[in-house]
Amino acid sequence: MWQTLLDFLNRPDLITLIVSTIFAFIMGALVGAWWFNTRAGSQTSLKEKKRDEAFFKGIQYLLSDDKDNAIEELTKSVKIDSDTVETYVALGNLYRSKGDIERAIRIRQSIILRPNIDENVRLGALFDLGVDYKKAGMVNRALETFLEVLKKRSSDVRTLVEIERIYEELRDWDKAYETRRRIAKYSKGDHTSIMAHHLVEMGKVSQAEGDYTRARSLYKKAISTNKGCVDAYLHLGDLYAERGEYKKAISIWKKIATVDPRFTFLAYGRLEAAYSSMKNIKPVEGFLRELAEENGDAFTYLALSRFLFAEGDVDGALAQVRRALEIKPELWQARKFQGEILIHSGRDQEALEAYKDLISRLDLPSLRFQCSCCGLEGDRLYWQCPKCKTWDSAVPLPEHRSPNPSLTS
Ligand SMILES: [Zn+2]
Repeated sequence: MWQTLLDFLNRPDLITLIVSTIFAFIMGALVGAWWFNTRAGSQTSLKEKKRDEAFFKGIQYLLSDDKDNAIEELTKSVKIDSDTVETYVALGNLYRSKGDIERAIRIRQSIILRPNIDENVRLGALFDLGVDYKKAGMVNRALETFLEVLKKRSSDVRTLVEIERIYEELRDWDKAYETRRRIAKYSKGDHTSIMAHHLVEMGKVSQAEGDYTRARSLYKKAISTNKGCVDAYLHLGDLYAERGEYKKAISIWKKIATVDPRFTFLAYGRLEAAYSSMKNIKPVEGFLRELAEENGDAFTYLALSRFLFAEGDVDGALAQVRRALEIKPELWQARKFQGEILIHSGRDQEALEAYKDLISRLDLPSLRFQCSCCGLEGDRLYWQCPKCKTWDSAVPLPEHRSPNPSLTS
């Protein structure tokens, strides 16, 4: 489904449609402004005529996507009459879209510094200035500018979202969290998943600083904010494991299977590290067998296989790793582990065959994720998409089933 969506978004005619819509919108705004301005004066002087001519030529160029000539004509128009703020705003946006951020910034500043300027226009230009600074990589100046807008427009969600993004970029999670809380006050929708992630990030910082009590309470707060926050269960479990409280760690990781079974595999590596230092590992086996029964996915069979091998049950381990490979033949970790078991038990010829098979499949990725918002694909799981910055948008791509019917039936 995602591929279809991506293909749809990549269609050149759709992009043309989007671009034309944006231009139509800009033109509507400019014509409106022009109409307003011309109505104000009853006599149209020669100067005004020239200004309007240049203005309309600019619009025509804008519509045919000829930015350079549009800039030239609009500049002519503002040179004739420098009072038309809207034309300056359009010019600033044009320069920004062309990547000439420096000039865009200068134009915004010239708008903001005008005496007797309408407050809404000034705040609009200030917001644009913040966007320009951000685009130029001047994050701190962008933040200052957006905060200045916020002083006058305390409930402006668009500005709050920009501020939140910057705090996230600066990894100032406390402030990102506070900002999201404000956004939640002024806009509808579910904000709990983002807030939970901010809390987890705050917890991670506390844990790294050795403040376990605060870290634990932040992870717990994240879970109570959003029961589906897998990230929070993982880190709370890690914290318990780090403190040697393995029983608690396992019971927390176990919850991922109920909350979102797609991500249970994230707990397995952690589980493995934990049971090597545990005295009583029976609960681990119970946990894995239960999940194998319920989920029946390749990662669970592989985890169970590793566990049985560590326990000395070679045949049991081989049986489980083979089940994993029946489901997901391209899971190279399982193929590699199968080879390790075979070598360990002296079945060198079989091991050789298993490794040959592994080499022939090395070009196949074992697990890939895709952002459900922007379509970004990769083999690393991000809770926040590095491209579009959406939280919890990554979904594992569908597993490739074995083409052999005798294995899949
Ligand atoms: Zn994305």
